[in-house]
Amino acid sequence: MNESPKPYDVVIIGGGPGGLSAALALGRSRKRVLLCDAGPRRNAAATKLHNFVTRDGTPPDDFRRIGREQLGEYPSVEVRDLRVDSIVGDRGDFRVALSTGEALVARRVLLCTGMVDEMLPLEGFRELWGRSIFQCPYCHGWELRDRAWGYLALPHTLGHAVPFAIQTRAWTSDVTLFTNGLALPEEGSAQLVAAGVRVVTGAVSRLVARDGRLASLALADGSSVACDALFAHPPQRHVPLVGGLGLALDDDGFVKVDPMKRETSAPGIYAGGDVTTRGQSAVFAASSALQAAAMINLELTLELAASGALP
Ligand SMILES: Cc1cc2nc3c(=O)[nH]c(=O)nc-3n(C[C@H](O)[C@H](O)[C@H](O)COP(=O)(O)OP(=O)(O)OC[C@H]3O[C@@H](n4cnc5c(N)ncnc54)[C@H](O)[C@@H]3O)c2cc1C
Repeated sequence: MNESPKPYDVVIIGGGPGGLSAALALGRSRKRVLLCDAGPRRNAAATKLHNFVTRDGTPPDDFRRIGREQLGEYPSVEVRDLRVDSIVGDRGDFRVALSTGEALVARRVLLCTGMVDEMLPLEGFRELWGRSIFQCPYCHGWELRDRAWGYLALPHTLGHAVPFAIQTRAWTSDVTLFTNGLALPEEGSAQLVAAGVRVVTGAVSRLVARDGRLASLALADGSSVACDALFAHPPQRHVPLVGGLGLALDDDGFVKVDPMKRETSAPGIYAGGDVTTRGQSAVFAASSALQAAAMINLELTLELAASGALP
């Protein structure tokens, strides 16, 4: 008879800042952990990671390499470069299917799968994403301070287009809000004028690059507006694994978690990092996944204590 595999205390899915941070905390609390990472990372297009204290300016691949090296100190943590295809079961007894065909058993599951940015069907967008088009001025604003910036409003971001465009004035006096044919909330126009933000209402037809960097936005009426850095929040989707779990989502489509325990609507499945929030940054992801890890460790240790099985 085949012996069932020894259960992991926790399987972490995703090896970005969130998953690495959770694995560190769980390894340091002597839990048996498997971290699985499928590879493509959210900030793959960016050459440097900014705004993470002690790591400002670090290439993202170095960030992950250092994270993995530091996990090497903790013998109960295993890291594997492969995809998790499915998770079934209940708290205490999850079956985790890997892309290799292996099936593992885990007491708890922690999702740190990030989000996938959908590239807009606008000529130049995909090529310039992460080079001249960014989601976050804290991450890449300093390097482009005092240059010509734009914010591209999209149907699902219209509600925050005005405050976001005004916020970018902290980095430069040259800001244009491209409404791309959409109507702004009425009170927005006066706020933009007061902040010295220009508004361009015409439809954007393509992004024009020079030497691999954004130079201008071409409009459907034939005119163009010079622009060095464009900020935009394209729609995001979950990876198929998360989409298939049927978890409760919040109003913005992120995985809903208990604010303290970070447990999802499926008991025993936790989540941290971008997958749970629109507030997306490496340090936020590391922090929320660390919180989930600490809560999982607390629960597992209490269970062992209650059953008299503490080592
Ligand atoms: C262009 C760009 C530049 C950015 N620059 C910065 C910056 O300078 N500073 C900053 O703080 N933030 C930056 N961010 C945001 C930052 O990258 C994210 O907030 C952060 O990476 C989120 O970490 P995470 O661990 O939640 O997810 P991610 O870093 O996206 O990691 C998720 C991982 O899960 C893996 N995965 C998904 N599904 C599976 C599966 N089924 N099996 C196994 N593995 C799976 C993915 O392959 C991926 O490696 C940037 C984002 C973008 C798009």
